[in-house]
Amino acid sequence: MYRDNTCGALRASDINSAVTLSGWVHKVRDKGFVVWVDLRDRYGLTQLVFDQDRTSSELLDKAKVLGRESVIRIKGEIIERASKNPNIPTGDIEVLVKELEILNDSLLPPFTIEDDTDGGEDIRMKYRYLDIRRNPVKDNLIFRHKVTMEVRKHLSDKGFIEVETPYLIKSTPEGARDFVVPSRMNEGQFYALPQSPQTFKQLLMVGGMDKYFQIVKCFRDEDLRADRQPEFTQIDCEMAFVEQEDILNAFEGLTKHLLKEIKGIDVEDFPRITYDEAMKRFGNDKPDVRFGMEFGELNAVAQHKDFNVFNSAELVVGIAVPGGASYTRKEIDKLIDWVKRPQVGAKGMVYVKCNEDGTYKSSVDKFYDQEDLAKWAEATNAKAGDLICVLSGTINETRAQLSALRMELAERLGLRKPDEFAPLWVIDFPLLELDEETGTYHAMHHPFTSPKPGQLELLETEPGKVKANAYDLVLNGNEIGGGSIRIHDKEIQATMFKHLGFTPEEAKAQFGFLMDAFQYGAPPHGGIAFGLDRLVAILGGQETIRDFIAFPKNNSGRDVMIDAPATIDEEQLKELHLKLDI
Ligand code: ASP
Repeated sequence: MYRDNTCGALRASDINSAVTLSGWVHKVRDKGFVVWVDLRDRYGLTQLVFDQDRTSSELLDKAKVLGRESVIRIKGEIIERASKNPNIPTGDIEVLVKELEILNDSLLPPFTIEDDTDGGEDIRMKYRYLDIRRNPVKDNLIFRHKVTMEVRKHLSDKGFIEVETPYLIKSTPEGARDFVVPSRMNEGQFYALPQSPQTFKQLLMVGGMDKYFQIVKCFRDEDLRADRQPEFTQIDCEMAFVEQEDILNAFEGLTKHLLKEIKGIDVEDFPRITYDEAMKRFGNDKPDVRFGMEFGELNAVAQHKDFNVFNSAELVVGIAVPGGASYTRKEIDKLIDWVKRPQVGAKGMVYVKCNEDGTYKSSVDKFYDQEDLAKWAEATNAKAGDLICVLSGTINETRAQLSALRMELAERLGLRKPDEFAPLWVIDFPLLELDEETGTYHAMHHPFTSPKPGQLELLETEPGKVKANAYDLVLNGNEIGGGSIRIHDKEIQATMFKHLGFTPEEAKAQFGFLMDAFQYGAPPHGGIAFGLDRLVAILGGQETIRDFIAFPKNNSGRDVMIDAPATIDEEQLKELHLKLDI
């Protein structure tokens, strides 16, 4: 027997019992005549004591040379500690060791296995199995497990069935590139790894599995932006015989269940705002609504004077920064530099200080009087003591820039509190999105999303105006889920493909199986998918998803521990009928 208890289990009530423990040597403190060893496993730390009087000098000598991270088994007696450690649950006791066996030695780890380690990100990734021994990583993985168990429990209680769908499939367009897998048995042909199980879950609806979910890996070959993983996990869900309202209610229920079970908080019914409203009020389709600083559009009150920058702009818009009137000139200049950084891209920033005495002082006093500025303050909801920051330009760019500034300032002002949760639904997304570079439209969600009733005709005339039965669930400024009511009619799906630039032949080659299935009694259906990694990170009060994935890839999509991707040998290439030309 390796152990009859874990290193986190023993308490004062166990004193005088015998115990067998196994674990890793966390720390050795050698006082000459007595040696203390902290023994660690997933459950905690237990202090072991060796001394020549109470045990044997032979055992003491063995303990003195124990290396950090060696794996040992001990037998001993649980005794009361002379100096108790109130910081750990086993702090009242120690184990007087009678037998010690070294199960395996360890090389000296390249970083300390402590909560605050001396190891940098790269080295910790290379030795991730050591990193996982550290509490912060270990606890995150346990936390993730808890969340997924709650997801499974809730959905299963509500009648959802978890069904696995294949990984070796054909392209499922979710807007990224596919990872492909060459087929040895079918020369010159490739599987694509799923960007999502989208088409399969729709086929399951045709198959009558009217409530489906799956906790599933998805693969997207995208240029890696910070904190994106090429493979990630979704809670993928689909229901048949539902309208948008049914889906929103079902998954609001899941989210509330998680907030309650995991965080112990009850939240009110989630607010719903349209995409258009989100863009107008927050410049963003995933607004963080834990704080105000809502946009105030100023065209009407700023475009009547000789200030050409504003007069020539499509949009003039501002936010009121709480307490910002006290910023020094230097601080404001820094803020202006911040919005002018290429990542944000504003050309400049106009500001107004709302003084405590009710007067205003702006960077454009030459053009605007106190009465004008009072109107700006009204439009941006600015109070005495606030600073109004105003940007201008084209609608889309200006909104994106001011939204970036809003989030940055909220961060600096400590308004993005990790223990506060403000979920909301954003609904009525546009069906199509214009690709500014090519001038063509593509599906904003995916090509299987249905337009709102009665809007199909608009596709011919004003495609950009068509709204979809599509929705996102937003939590604290992050999109944690997104979905739609699907098209379930073959003709409408064919029309949709046509508008997305597929010839009938291309549509048939790529999605013929789905359109065929629609001819055999496809029920009305819709669904949603949550990004599990991000959801877990946010519930865990952190923003980095990598910290909640056991073996993540780095920012260049590499697994530096196993060193992947890697080349394959000639023989394997030949078998796969591949020739490299590099
Ligand atoms: N397949 C979609 C996605 O991955 C989610 C959905 O529409 O259910 O974003």
